[in-house]
Amino acid sequence: MNRPYNFSAGPAAIPEEVLKTAAAEMLDWHGSGMGVMEMSHRGKEFISIYEKAESDFRELMAVPSEFKILFMQGGGLAENAIVPLNLSRGATVDFVVTGSWSQKSRKEAAKYAAEVHTAASGEDSHFTTLPDPATWQLSRGASYVHACTNETIHGVEFQQLPDLKALGCDAPLAIDFSSHVASRPVDWSRVGLAFGGAQKNLGPAGLTLVVVREDLLGHALPACPSAFDYKVVADNQSMFNTPPTWGIYIAGLTFQWLKEQREGHATGVAAMELRNAAKAKALYDFIDTSDFYVNKVAANCRSRMNIPFFLNDESRNDAFLAGAKASGLLQLKGHKSVGGMRASLYNAMPMAGVEALIAYMREFAQKHS
Ligand SMILES: *Cc1c(COP(=O)(O)O)cnc(C)c1O
Repeated sequence: MNRPYNFSAGPAAIPEEVLKTAAAEMLDWHGSGMGVMEMSHRGKEFISIYEKAESDFRELMAVPSEFKILFMQGGGLAENAIVPLNLSRGATVDFVVTGSWSQKSRKEAAKYAAEVHTAASGEDSHFTTLPDPATWQLSRGASYVHACTNETIHGVEFQQLPDLKALGCDAPLAIDFSSHVASRPVDWSRVGLAFGGAQKNLGPAGLTLVVVREDLLGHALPACPSAFDYKVVADNQSMFNTPPTWGIYIAGLTFQWLKEQREGHATGVAAMELRNAAKAKALYDFIDTSDFYVNKVAANCRSRMNIPFFLNDESRNDAFLAGAKASGLLQLKGHKSVGGMRASLYNAMPMAGVEALIAYMREFAQKHS
């Protein structure tokens, strides 16, 4: 049985091997007589799952030892509050607004930070470009600078992380990498904190991953809930409260799958980066040479993960989606705020899925031109 290709923006496709392993271990994990969902988070079985997931992620993403890896709950939206509760220290927070997600982050942070300052915005271009870091108006004495490094809805992605130090800014950079975590390497020398919900590229909804530099811990505002105080979470190895055990287990299986991926001599996340670049290029190249479809994002900031596109004749949208579904291509409808279509090409999407999408798009265009 061939499963359809699932282009959902999130919760999104999970590698089939991961789902099969989870299914096989559902009733009895490694002879323990228990499924993972039924285990104490403090028992030796689950501790071994947690420790392997943590060390595999550290290895895959080359996370330096001065960073803590936290497994939390609440998703990206909760982090929009948790980050300022932990990092804002009563000072201004700078925001780089590049699409819907960073807009939401700024709005939420304004509840907790003394002041939020928009250092740069792509709004004038309807979020089809990323403001050049050289033009950012960073505040003196900001507690941190927030950026969303892949805007899932507008389809813009930083191809390189900004170097704040080179811009004369000492504040740490906090990134929302929910929708491209583990799709490419991260230059940790430029980052103070990174957060992401798992349901795009790592596993099921309900798990939130936070990678935070040690020196940023211990400064939470008094009102910060203990379960969301990064220092409390770090000091308790993510077990101050019951962590999302199932999410950690599935993410751990995904990390093992990632470690096995190869492209030429590259392995792991480096292999994923090559594969993701090739997948995205294939689809953008097809869209750009077609006069039936269009993507409006500037070429140098196009996302490899989320590719919004439009039919030039939008009256055919429903027919396009129905035909796609009948061809085994699922969840291509664009976000309601942008409209049109969106193909999300996360790690679990193979090149064959992208080729099948392009073949369908070509055929649909020929039939309706
Ligand atoms: C999906 C997403 C979120 C929101 O995550 P929730 O788990 O729904 O809170 C935040 N930021 C980005 C960039 C996302 O893609």
